[in-house]
Amino acid sequence: GNRGAAEREQKLSLLKMKVGDLHSVPIIIRETTTIQEAVVSLFLENVGNLIVTDAEGHLAGIVSRKDLLKVTLGNPSASSMPVSLIMTRRANVTTVEPEDTVLDAARKIIAQQIDSLPVVVKSESDNPDAWKVVGRITKTNIIKMLLDMVSEE
Ligand code: ADP
Repeated sequence: GNRGAAEREQKLSLLKMKVGDLHSVPIIIRETTTIQEAVVSLFLENVGNLIVTDAEGHLAGIVSRKDLLKVTLGNPSASSMPVSLIMTRRANVTTVEPEDTVLDAARKIIAQQIDSLPVVVKSESDNPDAWKVVGRITKTNIIKMLLDMVSEE
């Protein structure tokens, strides 16, 4: 009946929703940022992790609260070191592109047991040195989208 059709349509819109429609503004720091400054940014921006880029905004890595805790707990003098020494490097960073579906992003987040993914635009060359960071998509973004869809019923 009607209800079945509405449910099917809703499911379809969830499957079709694109990362580009949902992602938020990325919180970015430079590779040269110190660990101390990164901790301050984490608190000021109220996020769980920070995306690290080069001067042109190309993805270099990601640093999370646990990465920062781990290094500073063992060694207080580490706070003046650059985050590039402790970040998860680009080769190991899971990313999505704006054209990917939100469902793809959710699967990657669960599979990797992480909180968020950088959203990158890979230029024509596909050269990873030139992946431009345009956003971040988080568990919270995705749950909010689900709640919006339920309340639209
Ligand atoms: P927390 O530090 O609070 O556990 P995360 O779950 O975001 O926060 O990070 C867990 C680990 O995974 C950290 O070492 C972090 O550097 C790494 N990490 C975070 N996001 C990603 C990602 N998109 N791809 C790969 N590794 C990531």
